[in-house]
Amino acid sequence: MDKIVVGYWDCPYCKNTGISGLEKRCPACGHSQDAGTKFYLKEQKEYVDKEKAANYGKGADWTCSYCGALNRYDAAVCVGCGADREESSGDYFENVKKQEEKAAKKKAEQQPQQTENRSGMKRFLPLIIGLAVLISIIAFACRPRNYDASVTAKAWSRTINVEEYKTVNESDWNVPDGGRVTDERNEIHHYDHVLDHYETVEVQKSRQVQDGYDTHTEYRDNGDGTFTENTVQTPRYRTEYYTEEEERPVYVDVPRYQTKYYYDIERWVPEKKLETSGGDDKPYWDDTKLADNERESGRSAVYTADFTTDKDKTYSTELDEGLWDTLKTGDRAALVVKNGKITSVNGTEIR
Ligand SMILES: [Zn+2]
Ligand SMILES: [Zn+2]
Repeated sequence: MDKIVVGYWDCPYCKNTGISGLEKRCPACGHSQDAGTKFYLKEQKEYVDKEKAANYGKGADWTCSYCGALNRYDAAVCVGCGADREESSGDYFENVKKQEEKAAKKKAEQQPQQTENRSGMKRFLPLIIGLAVLISIIAFACRPRNYDASVTAKAWSRTINVEEYKTVNESDWNVPDGGRVTDERNEIHHYDHVLDHYETVEVQKSRQVQDGYDTHTEYRDNGDGTFTENTVQTPRYRTEYYTEEEERPVYVDVPRYQTKYYYDIERWVPEKKLETSGGDDKPYWDDTKLADNERESGRSAVYTADFTTDKDKTYSTELDEGLWDTLKTGDRAALVVKNGKITSVNGTEIR
């Protein structure tokens, strides 16, 4: 059963506090409850007796627009000035809402956000400047530099890869054309993942179980100088653990055998490299004649040059054959060097 509890209010005129909400006027100075009145509860609850309680919790007080007094919901005229209820300027709850909005606005004005942002930026400024300086130093150190230099050495090396047609021994599950079988063996071809049996395992599980009720008391402002006491019960839960048996499949890997063939067959296989090299301007390929069972399978070449700058620094680089060919030992050359590496010779970029 809901009970009616007495609310309290403070008089702003004579600073009288803790006045019973049932008193429409301040007993010290006679001022009425008004638009600034906010009812509150005390630690010690005082219940309104049963007969009187029937008159409370029916509706919020209305505010007189002429004198500002709060009047009972069922009063047709203002107790303060006798004005008609039709002239009301809202009720208790609207007054409280306005007061709260005013307080929130005032709080927001006292904490301007702009200053906070600016101080946050200030904190990071040294870090940003430091980072910018560091990036500039690295960019300066890594910048490409131009040098006047002379070609001090040239070198080249050329390679021809040679294959030989010969008999080799291989193994496979099938014999290719031309294969001459030398042996057959029973070997594992693959494994099959096969269901062997089921095993029973215990699995931990949990569930929520209702375990009685939690009781607590709530108070609702009636807006007429009283509060309604309400006892609320909410169900309480606890976690219950239990085990359940589960059937799980167990698999085994079963080897599957098949005949593997070992056979002789003729194949082209890498045999040797024919290499030539020199420190001069005249590269050539090895011209050794190949046998009937030999063939060429590719060629490769490397051309390098050394440069010494007028500041006596030495750089070495690989070059395309075309560019390498235009440079003679003792020639002058314009270099671009970045991070200790030549990136361009006489205006031609080097990859
Ligand atoms: Zn007073
Ligand atoms: Zn009035």
